[in-house]
Amino acid sequence: MATDDTPSPQPYRVLARKYRPRTFAELIGQDAMVRTLTNAIHADRLPHAFILTGVRGVGKTSTARIIARALNCIGEDGNGGPTPESCGICAHCLAITEDRHVDVIEMDAASRTGVNDIRELIDGVRYRPVDARFKIYIIDEVHMLSSSAFNALLKTLEEPPEHVKFIFATTETRKVPVTVLSRCQRFDLRRVDAETLIAHFNSVAKQESATVAEGAMGLIARAADGSVRDGLSLLDQAIAHAGNAEGDEVAEGAVREMLGLADGGLIYDLFAAAMQGTVDEALTIFNQLYDAGADPAIVLQDLLQLTHWLTRIKLSPAAAEGQGISQMDRERGQSLAETLSVPTLGRTWQLLLKGLSEVQSLPSSAQAAEMVLIRLAYMAELPSPADLVRTLKDNPASAATAPQATPAPPAAPPVPPQSSQDDGGARMAGGMGAHDAMPQQAPIDDPDLAPPIQEMQPAPVADEQNMGPQGFEQIVAMFEERREGILHATLIHHVHLVRFEPGHIALRTEPEAPSDLATRVSKFLSEWTGDQWLVSLSEEAGAPTIREQMDAKEAARRGRATAHPLVQAALEAFPGATVEAVTERVPEEFPDSVDEDGTDDDTETEKADS
Ligand SMILES: [Zn+2]
Repeated sequence: MATDDTPSPQPYRVLARKYRPRTFAELIGQDAMVRTLTNAIHADRLPHAFILTGVRGVGKTSTARIIARALNCIGEDGNGGPTPESCGICAHCLAITEDRHVDVIEMDAASRTGVNDIRELIDGVRYRPVDARFKIYIIDEVHMLSSSAFNALLKTLEEPPEHVKFIFATTETRKVPVTVLSRCQRFDLRRVDAETLIAHFNSVAKQESATVAEGAMGLIARAADGSVRDGLSLLDQAIAHAGNAEGDEVAEGAVREMLGLADGGLIYDLFAAAMQGTVDEALTIFNQLYDAGADPAIVLQDLLQLTHWLTRIKLSPAAAEGQGISQMDRERGQSLAETLSVPTLGRTWQLLLKGLSEVQSLPSSAQAAEMVLIRLAYMAELPSPADLVRTLKDNPASAATAPQATPAPPAAPPVPPQSSQDDGGARMAGGMGAHDAMPQQAPIDDPDLAPPIQEMQPAPVADEQNMGPQGFEQIVAMFEERREGILHATLIHHVHLVRFEPGHIALRTEPEAPSDLATRVSKFLSEWTGDQWLVSLSEEAGAPTIREQMDAKEAARRGRATAHPLVQAALEAFPGATVEAVTERVPEEFPDSVDEDGTDDDTETEKADS
């Protein structure tokens, strides 16, 4: 496969270049495209223009060159025609491989976007190839061309001379005009799956006489995210940095460090601690990771990845036996997956996903991550909401004697501490989690999912038949709906409403709020509602912040909620449990797996205090 047979101490060539595929057979993970192209060449039904699409590093330009070789190869004897198995040794094959074929013109549209660049190129189209069968234009990143450049190109594409072929490559087909797309045959290069990457990288490592631990290779393949080129670059670095002497194994830990990944074992410990509801331990481990330099967002991403992994091996245990799975993922993963139910993993996923966006949008990411872990710990020890509700509804009295009817959390739920400190967003709930099929009057607690603002979202705010936001809470809710996380958090924590009337809001901001808050809020509102909104700043004290109001309401509602019969039943069912928070449920945020009874409750919005 490697045509470069220089021994390794000789001039160094990066692996991605050295192992660049030169034939269709060497192209990794693109079987479907290769089949189509091979058939087209055999049948002599080649398009005038190809467009190759796919994420970066999957092999688009390599494919373009392979096509160029296939079209211009004349075979060993000099008499061959176009062939999917180009010989690799004729003058044309060699020249194309070495980037010096006079009739194969490569252009990077990212650096030459102008109409003059294209004109120059197109000027050459009318001349016959110097000595090859076809004159081949390879235009990389073709979506970067200006529209006038596309127009110039279009004329040529409409009536291409027989001796010309265009091969375009792009990561973004949507930016290529339809008029151009419609004149090309499109070939989609797929992200290469991890297994295929691992097999390929193992073969490269072998040729390089490098030994790479299975888990290390798995990490490299995972980080490559479908890109052969990126993966080879990582492998390159791993061999250079991680394995010092000849014959040294590239260890998983070294690669993990190189990739800036948190210690895999600690991530497992962290996940296990959170899922067992041992908050202290979870926070200790998190701080250990944080002190070691781990980015809180990366830690949550790792936890998300672990959740995905556990769900996967839970649903198909054979996945754990796949290639490139580290021993830890195999063994710890399997034993951890056994203790967790699929709905629990689904809720964990949702919670982490939401938590990740908080961590990314808040300035104090470590604190935000800690709050996510605390929520996770409290969520994890709860039985599945659907099961709990069912049990309680069927027979509230028996719930106390048959709690094991619910999918039990991994460890016996420890009694949650009576946490009273306000955390600015986290929901402490040792009481009950309930989601679907709850009777309307119930104050419902979704400790894991309900963000603070949900409770003040009385109706779908962006409803067309609505006349636009009727209150400040609705305005704020819009910022959450539209994923303006930072503005949303600022509006909740650092803004006092002085006056509200449709079209005009007066606010007093705390020093923490950005100075252009009013401008930005006004711009977004005008954009979203189609009406002009004036947002002005005031010196008047105004109302308490939404956060402050929520805290006050929360205390009042907790009292009322505790008195509810269903909650009373839950409290009896779980001795020692307390109602720590009461929030609206957020049906659409729940994974489908929880919604087992098929009730469609998407439209319900319950008032906790009605
Ligand atoms: Zn050839």
